[in-house]
Amino acid sequence: MAIPDEDVAAVRAATDIVALIGEYTPLKRSGRRFVGLCPFHSEKSASFSVNAEEGLYYCFGCQASGDPITFLRAIEGCSFVEAVETLAARAGVAIRTDALGGNREERDKRQGLYDAMEKAVSFYHDRLLSHPDAARARQYLRSRGLEADTVKRFKLGWAPEGGNQLVRALKVPAAALAGAGLVVQGNYGPRDAFRGRLIFPIFQPDGKPVALGGRLVPGIGDGQGPKYRNSPETPIYQKRSTLYGLNLSRQQVVQTGEVIVCEGYTDVIGFFRVGLGRAVATCGTALTEDHFKLLSRFARRVVLAFDADGAGQSAAARFYEWEKRHELEVAVADLPAGEDPGELASKDPDRLRKAVEEARTYLDFRLRRVLSGGDLKSPEGRARLAEAALAVVAEHPNELVRDQYLNEVADTTRIGVEQLRPRLVSAVASQQAGVGRTTRKGAGVPAQEPRHEDDWRGGPPPSPAGPRRKPAPTPGQRAGRDALSLAIHEPAAMAGRLDASLFADPVQKEAFAALASAENLHEAIESAGDTAGELLVELANVDPSISPDQAVVALVRTAAVEMLIELEAEVRAAQQAEDAERILTTAPEIAWIKSELELFSDVGAGELAPIAVTEAAARLVAWLTQRRAGADGSEHEQSGVARTSS
Ligand SMILES: [Zn+2]
Repeated sequence: MAIPDEDVAAVRAATDIVALIGEYTPLKRSGRRFVGLCPFHSEKSASFSVNAEEGLYYCFGCQASGDPITFLRAIEGCSFVEAVETLAARAGVAIRTDALGGNREERDKRQGLYDAMEKAVSFYHDRLLSHPDAARARQYLRSRGLEADTVKRFKLGWAPEGGNQLVRALKVPAAALAGAGLVVQGNYGPRDAFRGRLIFPIFQPDGKPVALGGRLVPGIGDGQGPKYRNSPETPIYQKRSTLYGLNLSRQQVVQTGEVIVCEGYTDVIGFFRVGLGRAVATCGTALTEDHFKLLSRFARRVVLAFDADGAGQSAAARFYEWEKRHELEVAVADLPAGEDPGELASKDPDRLRKAVEEARTYLDFRLRRVLSGGDLKSPEGRARLAEAALAVVAEHPNELVRDQYLNEVADTTRIGVEQLRPRLVSAVASQQAGVGRTTRKGAGVPAQEPRHEDDWRGGPPPSPAGPRRKPAPTPGQRAGRDALSLAIHEPAAMAGRLDASLFADPVQKEAFAALASAENLHEAIESAGDTAGELLVELANVDPSISPDQAVVALVRTAAVEMLIELEAEVRAAQQAEDAERILTTAPEIAWIKSELELFSDVGAGELAPIAVTEAAARLVAWLTQRRAGADGSEHEQSGVARTSS
């Protein structure tokens, strides 16, 4: 580990895990814990638990577990060092960066690019806010209804028209400026890459700027180049996985489970202006699967707020595939034809809000487009319309979904469902035969498996990240879990009453041993093996359901019964070997355990044990501990033989 342990521990202790995880999934208090929908797997009822005091989370659905560092690594896909650094910055904790490992050169280079971009964003932003040469740009923004608060919120900027103002103003190494795509090499030395343009900085979800979008302003300059120009791809900026606005919209996206995806930076700003602060935009590319993957961390539903019909059938195949793979629902906002959200936000804010409220599923949207454009007057027209509509319905991979839309086609075209159904079946067949073709043609379309009708939703999860089922615990394991859970939650009540030898399950045994020899829970989790560590994290998120007395009694009873079975086998082996001495020492032990166990027999599971039973349990613990210690040493062989013969 490159960062000193005490620094890592300090970062962990200073992090508010509920606030951190709350940025990805809403959490509600439940007793001593917080619960919510798991951000790592799709679910309808909350099985994700956070123990705020210990700073640990656990999902009872997919077994995702850990501390704030594990969480950030898993959800942001970053390295251990990056996660610690991010949390340290968040909590205002200083860590000794000189000890950081990793590829030092690579890290420094990336950091140089981030710094350059950060400074450039500030430079352009200040320029727009106050410099005389940005007066016309400010005027233009005001004419579009964008006031100072919006400019500040999105850190909009103005890139002056001169050739190398940024280069001269920024005290940043030329290599970093070029590496971040901020300057280009001209005939007479480095020149600013953005000149005479409004600047829309593009941020990572965590708020670090990584790229710029530059827009020409009508009437300024000679209108050089395209209306929009974006930063090139760099080590800190990949278009296919970056979404403009996500740094600002993330919170509302998480709260509502919905994200609005548009195509322009001004569209995102428009949505924010009408109160829909959950909009993002692609950065000059079509929507890719990487975008979907990123969004699936935060949202359950994606509302497309652009002309989603333009891309046609190959886009439809992609969307349906991604919906299924990332368990997201894709809907289309009901925007008036020819209007973009940025303009509509100024002209008719209510209409824009309504467009999102009344978003339709992707298939519904496409079907309405087709059905509303047809000729319904002649039988020939209705037949053509039905064929076109069936082709759209056939794109959907689920038969049940297709069937429901069949009725709509029948109603509109006034052709009977029974007549349409065979045609739908053949449309589906011909499209599936053509899937291979579409796949090769369409950019970014994942190779498709033969489609299975029943795995649209709810089928057995194909991804390894999906929920796993654990086998039901044995009574001994259940008793062990309860005892361990209490040892975590009520250490004082359990102190001195348990011993590692009581746990038959090797993972529980290891977890208990780690807990017994560590100063605190975190130390125990770290010193235990992976599986035992995970068990401790899980149990930190389970409220004990029984009392300490009950747990001790239950655990001792199962351990004693197991020991009894072993001893009886030993006696049988001794009888066969005619080992009289061994029989003589073992028989009284058996009798004693039996008499002690009889005290237990009247106590039902979950009942409160009388004092006599608690005392018997303590005697048995002492005896079992001693006995096991012996068995682990000199009598090891003997006990092994006994076990196999039983
Ligand atoms: Zn989960």
